[in-house]
Amino acid sequence: MLFDDFADEPDMVVSVLVPVAVPEAYTYRVPTGASVVPGTIVKVPLGPREVLGAVWDGPADPAIAPKKLKAISRIYDHAGPLDETLRRFVDWVAYWTLAPPGMVLRMVLRSEEALEPEAPITGVRSVAGKEPDRRTPARARVLETLIDGMAWTKSGLAHAAGVSPSVIDGLVRQEVLETVQMPAAPPPPKPQLDYATVTLTAAQRTAADGIIAAFDKGASVSLIDGVTGSGKTEVYFEAIAEALRRNRQALVLLPEIALTEQFLRRFENRFGVYPAEWHSDVSPKKRARVWRGVADGSMRVVIGARSALFLPFMDLGLIVVDEEHDGAFKQDDRVAYNARDMAVVRGHLGKFPVVLASATPSIESRVNADQGRYTRYVLPDRASGAALPDLHAIDMRHDGPERGRWIAPALVAALRDTLSHGGQALLFLNRRGYAPLTLCRTCGHRFQCPHCSAWLVEHRFQKRLVCHHCGHFENVPDRCPSCGANESLVACGPGVERIAEEVTGLFPEARTLVLSSDLLGGPDRLRREMKIVEEGGADIVVGTQLIAKGHNFPMMRLVGVIDADLGLAHGDPRAAEKTFQLLAQVTGRAGRVTGGGAGYLQTYAPDHPVIRALLSSDRDAFYNAEIDARRGAGLPPFGRLAALIVSGTDKAGTEAFARAVLRAAPTEPAVTLLGPAEAALAMIRGRHRYRLLALAPRQMDLQGYLRQWLGKGPKPRGGIRLNVDIDPQNFL
Ligand code: ADP
Ligand code: ZN
Repeated sequence: MLFDDFADEPDMVVSVLVPVAVPEAYTYRVPTGASVVPGTIVKVPLGPREVLGAVWDGPADPAIAPKKLKAISRIYDHAGPLDETLRRFVDWVAYWTLAPPGMVLRMVLRSEEALEPEAPITGVRSVAGKEPDRRTPARARVLETLIDGMAWTKSGLAHAAGVSPSVIDGLVRQEVLETVQMPAAPPPPKPQLDYATVTLTAAQRTAADGIIAAFDKGASVSLIDGVTGSGKTEVYFEAIAEALRRNRQALVLLPEIALTEQFLRRFENRFGVYPAEWHSDVSPKKRARVWRGVADGSMRVVIGARSALFLPFMDLGLIVVDEEHDGAFKQDDRVAYNARDMAVVRGHLGKFPVVLASATPSIESRVNADQGRYTRYVLPDRASGAALPDLHAIDMRHDGPERGRWIAPALVAALRDTLSHGGQALLFLNRRGYAPLTLCRTCGHRFQCPHCSAWLVEHRFQKRLVCHHCGHFENVPDRCPSCGANESLVACGPGVERIAEEVTGLFPEARTLVLSSDLLGGPDRLRREMKIVEEGGADIVVGTQLIAKGHNFPMMRLVGVIDADLGLAHGDPRAAEKTFQLLAQVTGRAGRVTGGGAGYLQTYAPDHPVIRALLSSDRDAFYNAEIDARRGAGLPPFGRLAALIVSGTDKAGTEAFARAVLRAAPTEPAVTLLGPAEAALAMIRGRHRYRLLALAPRQMDLQGYLRQWLGKGPKPRGGIRLNVDIDPQNFL
């Protein structure tokens, strides 16, 4: 509905949330004759612009005379209103993350195209009795294709007749063909609950039954804690079936787009149809269709990245968060939210079950289960009956490879053995590129990013030095830019490309594949390559953490971890947990179906508790020790953490501002403040960074404290930014 003329006396004012960084909704006038309700999606003037917004709950500001108010300029009739639960969810996420509520709403209204009805498709068909002026072979093929009188889309027809679209346009101009409106795409087919069921193992059955029973309780959280390959997916498929049986929609969140392809196929095997997909790699047009489809209820199941949490489901009845421990569920920039935690909130507000699944649950979820807030279901064995892989440490202090090589003799022998038996092997190193550092042998010059405090990483495939923080790249020079020496540059340390080079030298006959997110070809290529590996088309895979996540490679028998210590050294309270999770996940890729898998961890610290826990497969020992350590230090989940990150282009000014922020902190003995300290990544994209950390007891309202603090503290200006990160996962 568009308004051209507004009456003088408006009868109604409302608050409208707009997608800008202001603390609350603005007040607008409703044009006479129009009606809106909370949640109505609108367009409103804001300064010189027109922006999308939504009518929000709560009173409009009575202090403003209605005459002074600008009016809503457009009401969207084909989308919205956003329901009460979604509105409360937006408010809640804003409250929790300290983000302006409008910025959270922006995540809901991300697809502007979705707010319009889908544009009808125009097609063409032949007009009886009309002949073109000249009957070329191309024209003849078109008319031949249309002989049955059916309408075709232009592109479909061009393809089928093997002609260029201009041939069809020419025929339309001559009125030999006429354009017609094609019927809208039919609603997607519904999942079939009993399309193909599996017989669950006893442990799976117990979990599935428990989760299904929870649907009667309203809000609940279940944690499926099952070893890699234990059949967690089959269990939550039963939960999805239950949601569908109750005529509710279901959402599955995955941490990595590269996993969706395999998930789509598995879902189809189970339910006979593909679910809807939602992530950054889906085209805007398809995303608009999903947005509309979940809102009108025609799409029943969505599989998506974290942002799918903000879709306007008509009747959401289940959220599954698979690989719930994964750091990718945390968004660091703009609205810093953790999709796993916010999924629990959405389930709570919508009074429906949330299922978290992982082979290596987060400490948070384990503690929530121990304390009775979540119900934990343990799947101790693989569904196939296959044993978990045998894990070995290779002590790199004594048994490492010769200089300039990275694969120890024992791992080379295991690779040889695996290959000779026709098995697949995976070498894991969480470092993209060829080498993490390049230096000049003559003068010691190191290649650093001009915008970030980070070394440039050599990528041999691309023949470039690349910054992994800002994307800056330069060509690898022939001479040292500092001393001019020729052929004096050396690569220091390995990345996956260098490991692949070593593998190719050792096993020239083997089909070796590098899987890393930065390779040319993007997600499409990755999907294809994942499938190649799955089908046995590669012998040795060299991969980054991408490969560690949930993928099922039935022929994978051996996993070698090139640097098991890589994650342990950070100033990150979760370093041990993250390393444990990553290594357990990646070694868990071995022998999932057939058993007989083996894993080798190359380490300089074989006695580190994380390595010991992995080797002895004593997960509980690791969890218990880590939980005790966190409790002792008052760290999450026993305490609450928030990071304040101050950044700016002028170093001294940024630091001074960070100090001023600290001075403004309200006195509160229960809160420990740390910093400001220069961030480990002291500069990103030309911005200097300082971090402050607040640690508070669990029962304290840390958000309230921060609001009070930032409310009276200095306001960032002059290009300085202050970002709040509640429960930070990233400490760089
Ligand atoms: P997870 O999600 O725990 O890693 P999956 O659900 O991927 O495990 O299951 C691992 C493999 O075992 C898959 O190939 C799956 O099809 C198979 N599987 C799982 N449960 C069963 C079952 N009850 N009967 C037969 N095969 C199963
Ligand atoms: Zn950079």
